[in-house]
Amino acid sequence: MKLILLGPPGAGKGTQAEILSKDLAIPTISTGNILRAAVKAGTPIGRKAKAFMDAGKLVPDAVIIGIIRERLEEADCTNGFILDGVPRTIAQAEALEEAGVLFDAVISLEVSDEAIVKRMDGRRVCTHCGTPFHVETKPPKAEGVCDACGGALIERDDDKPETVRARLTVYHEETEPLKHFYEKRGKLRTVPGDLGTIEETTKAIERALEAAH
Ligand code: AMP
Repeated sequence: MKLILLGPPGAGKGTQAEILSKDLAIPTISTGNILRAAVKAGTPIGRKAKAFMDAGKLVPDAVIIGIIRERLEEADCTNGFILDGVPRTIAQAEALEEAGVLFDAVISLEVSDEAIVKRMDGRRVCTHCGTPFHVETKPPKAEGVCDACGGALIERDDDKPETVRARLTVYHEETEPLKHFYEKRGKLRTVPGDLGTIEETTKAIERALEAAH
C-alpha cells in the first residue's frame, strides 16, 4: 500500500500515520521529521532548511525531492509506505510521478483553520523519534516523556500561533492544489479530521481505504 496523508499542519497526519504504519506494517516517511533530525545534527541540508522551517515556509523543492527519492530507495519501502507531509507542492508530486512512484490512495484530512490554531497550542513532539502528542487529546503516560522511546517532549518552535498562521497560508496556496491534482487521477479521499476521537478518524481513514480498492 502506497499512501499519502495530506492536510494542514496539525490535522493529525503524524498521529494517524503512526497508527496506520503499525496496522499496515509499512513505514511512515515524514520529511518534517527527516529535516528536524538534519537540523539537530547540523548537516548541510539541515543548515539550509532551518531558516525556512523557522519562518513556517516550505523548504525548496529540489532539497525535498532529493531527500524523498533517496529515502524511498531504502529496503523497508518495498512493500509500501505512508508519506506524511510530502508531497507539499505540485512540483514535488510531479517529481514523484516522474520517478515512477504511484499511489493507491491520497487521504486528505480536513480540519478548519480555527481548529488548527487551537490544536497546535497543546501539541508536543518527541525530540528523538518525532512521535506527536497533545496535552489534552493524546497525553503521554509520563509528562514530558515519549511513550515510544523515552525521549524528551518539546513544543516545536514553529507551532507558535504566528508561525502556525503562516504555515496555514502556505498550505492553502501551495499544498491544497494537490487535492485537485490527485482527484484528477482518481486517488483523492477526503476524511473529516476534527469530528471525533483519534480512533474514530482512523476508522474513517480505513473505510476510505477499503473503498479505494
Ligand atoms: P512538518 O513536520 O511536516 O509540519 O514540517 C515542518 C517544516 O518542515 C515545514 O513547515 C517546512 O518548512 C518543512 N517541510 C517538511 N516537509 C516539507 C515538504 N514536503 N516540502 C517543503 N517543506 C517541507
